[in-house]
Amino acid sequence: MSSHRVVVIGSGPSGATAAIYLSRANLPPVVYEGIQPGGQLTTTTEVDNYPGFPEGITGPDLIDKMKAQAERFDAKFVWDSISSIEFEKRPFILHTENGETAEADAIIISTGATARYLGLPSEERMKGKGVSACATCDGFFYKDVHVIVVGGGDTAMEEADFLTKFASGVTIVHRRDTFRASKIMVKRIEDNPKISIVWDSEVLEVLGEAAVTGVKIRNRVSDETSVLAAEGLFLAIGHTPNTQMLGGAIDTDNAGYIKTTPGSTHTNIPGVFACGDVQDPIYRQAVSAAGSGCMAALDAERWLSAQE
Ligand code: NDP
Repeated sequence: MSSHRVVVIGSGPSGATAAIYLSRANLPPVVYEGIQPGGQLTTTTEVDNYPGFPEGITGPDLIDKMKAQAERFDAKFVWDSISSIEFEKRPFILHTENGETAEADAIIISTGATARYLGLPSEERMKGKGVSACATCDGFFYKDVHVIVVGGGDTAMEEADFLTKFASGVTIVHRRDTFRASKIMVKRIEDNPKISIVWDSEVLEVLGEAAVTGVKIRNRVSDETSVLAAEGLFLAIGHTPNTQMLGGAIDTDNAGYIKTTPGSTHTNIPGVFACGDVQDPIYRQAVSAAGSGCMAALDAERWLSAQE
């Protein structure tokens, strides 16, 4: 069994930033990269909103640079996933998918969240060819074309509104006849002349070969099917925070996001910290995730010092 002061679980911007700060504090961690090393950022193309890269940078390049920066100060990245953790006593004991065991005095959870998709084969086929789950990341590429947003929550409202900065028009397709989004967000949508709404409808198929050309939808009340032409399809049907390996030991909110003490990254278990999208249903940006990774490293360092 390997022994560590700090183990970081997850290697997106929050985990990588935590690793940089820990290493520079002479606490070089082991980072378990998870099944998608680099996290959601590796599925995006150009990142134009991460400060310090005036020409933009691709998601994979940005992650590679963060990782290299942490490795420069002796953080170790391991291509393995944590399957379960014994939180009952310290040091904590972590079990990996590859059958390894590690112990750690402190743990930083930065496992991120996974965007939900509809689960259609055509949707899977068209990912990166017009199907996206992040308007903030990809909206810029949809200038003067029509796009569709699926969902009825605050994210769908926010993304539809954001997309009108670029797109010629946005159609929101929602499966019911009311939105669950907050009134103020719905009002913004209703007041935006570039947005139309298709109620009571579900997407059956994403159309197109090299690029999205539209979607086939079904009205759930009349059972009629029709085709909506569009060059982009944005899914905004929620995210699932990746907390399966925690076995319910860490407190979460109703949606499954880890609860942290306000203004810090402490969880309900002393010595366990959370950062990035696994504890953030609101901002979900690489830069805010990186910021909270820095906070988690500082919290862990101070907590470890206080134990000595
Ligand atoms: P939500 O869970 O709030 O909404 C998801 C939406 O997607 C719902 O309208 C739901 O429909 C729909 N949906 C879910 N699954 C499917 C499916 N399989 N097919 C079709 N539609 C589906 O997620 P959000 O990401 O919108 O929001 C998450 C949290 O973050 C919320 O608490 C929200 O308030 C918060 N948030 C706040 C923001 C802000 O304050 N600025 C911005 C963004 C998010 P149905 O309604 O029928 O269940």
